[in-house]
Amino acid sequence: MSKLVKSLRIDNLINGSFKPSSSERRQPIYDPGAGEEIGFVPFSTKEEVKDAIGAAEAAYDKWSKIPVPDRIQYLFRLKNEMESHKDQLARSITLNHGKTISEAEGELERAIQNVESAISVAYTLYKGEYMPTVASGIDEMSERVPLGVFASINPFNFPIMVPFWFIPYALVLGNTIVVKPSEITPLGMFMVGEIFQKVFPPGVVNIVNGAKEVVDELLSNPSIKGITFVGSTNVAKYIYKTASENGKKVSASGGAKNFAVVMPDAKLEQTVANLIPSFFGNAGQRCLANANLVAVGGVYDELKRKFIEASKRLVVGYGFDRGTDIGPLVTESAKNRVQGYIEKGIEEGAKLVLDGRNVRVPDYPKGFYLGPTIFDEVSPDMVIAKEEIFGPVANIMRVESIEEAIELINRSRYGNAASIFTTSGVVARKFASEVIAGNIGVNVAVAQPMAFFPFGGMKESFFGVLHPQIETVNFYTDRKIVIQRWF
Ligand code: NAD
Repeated sequence: MSKLVKSLRIDNLINGSFKPSSSERRQPIYDPGAGEEIGFVPFSTKEEVKDAIGAAEAAYDKWSKIPVPDRIQYLFRLKNEMESHKDQLARSITLNHGKTISEAEGELERAIQNVESAISVAYTLYKGEYMPTVASGIDEMSERVPLGVFASINPFNFPIMVPFWFIPYALVLGNTIVVKPSEITPLGMFMVGEIFQKVFPPGVVNIVNGAKEVVDELLSNPSIKGITFVGSTNVAKYIYKTASENGKKVSASGGAKNFAVVMPDAKLEQTVANLIPSFFGNAGQRCLANANLVAVGGVYDELKRKFIEASKRLVVGYGFDRGTDIGPLVTESAKNRVQGYIEKGIEEGAKLVLDGRNVRVPDYPKGFYLGPTIFDEVSPDMVIAKEEIFGPVANIMRVESIEEAIELINRSRYGNAASIFTTSGVVARKFASEVIAGNIGVNVAVAQPMAFFPFGGMKESFFGVLHPQIETVNFYTDRKIVIQRWF
């Protein structure tokens, strides 16, 4: 695939037109499966960010006054266009990110579900409240009002889905938006930009590419009413603090280190079949990926054996090849970072029982591949057990009771997801109620909420009050209370 695409230039979408950035600062983008450069992304200037914000501001007045049922029609058109370009969009994700084509197709389905969910929001939750005669001759109502221009800052690992946790809701509720894709994987949103250009009036959706400087302008520009961020915890903290100081609404999702707990009564065949893609799918680059596998009591030996056996069967390869289970890491530096953690684990005394560093993909010798890697005898105080590795690395740990497992999870600085495998309702209920994490799976290893539920996150995995997906109805609107009397 990358042989066909050598020099992609990622342009910004500002006021309905694609424009190349005037910036001389740029960064290569890659086909990580082939390990080849396919083009570049500009680090746009502050002036370009201001232009995008200005365009969104100019579009807001008209857009916010469009009757709701008519605004909804734009989203139906967005959904239809996304459906009819699904193959092309999925291919753009695989090309620039490396995940398998079926993972990319799954990502797109989740993105499109958010368009559907946003449509449902406009028909239901957007409605206000009304109570006649709260006092003699006085009626009271609350209505939801849009706020203006919002910004969305995104991570590399779901180039289209994560922006769609926000964009459709912001728009259907009457706001306009400036989107900053990841500078590592900007291709997906660049392609979606063509759809935005076709569907929406100029300025309603704008895309500006770049990195920290673009973000800093979005954080400080007084026209931006609110910021959503998804990415690593340290940056999430910075975004939360700076946006709050500047008086903006902010919702910032951070990193993760997720635990899967297996009880002695779990059905092991199904359990292992579920666990494998959660540890190694998307090459482990998923905020809901499991990273620590906690065996409770006597299940340890058999779980370990089955987990290692199943991991060895996974095919590492180019994302476009349908037989591939695990694609590459997103960049060479991501691969080096994960390799650094593997070396750290060895140094710390964890037992390396499967080493993915030796994996070879003969047709793509330059690709950024790492195979499934498993450490056994991992203790909770090791760096590899605590820090987010964001690669195909699993740590096996052993505890003696469900209480010990819960305590272990609750000590983590992160609280994104946790799952339990058991046939006991009592144990599952205890786990779900006592574990401090935003997304809980019971015999479900990737606890990903559907678009019409909020996407959870606790502790250092989330900063703010209102979570992504459907809960953004409260983020993208404010309440106005009208108390009326007619003389
Ligand atoms: P990242 O934090 O490096 O980058 C995210 C965004 O922030 C990018 O658009 C980047 O340009 C910008 N950015 C980076 N450094 C910045 C800085 N110093 N100042 C201002 N902006 C900056 O994250 P990533 O590597 O792209 O994505 C992976 C991370 O995202 C992982 O930690 C993963 O767990 C997390 N993630 C979390 C969720 C969730 O729902 N909690 C979902 C997906 C990914």
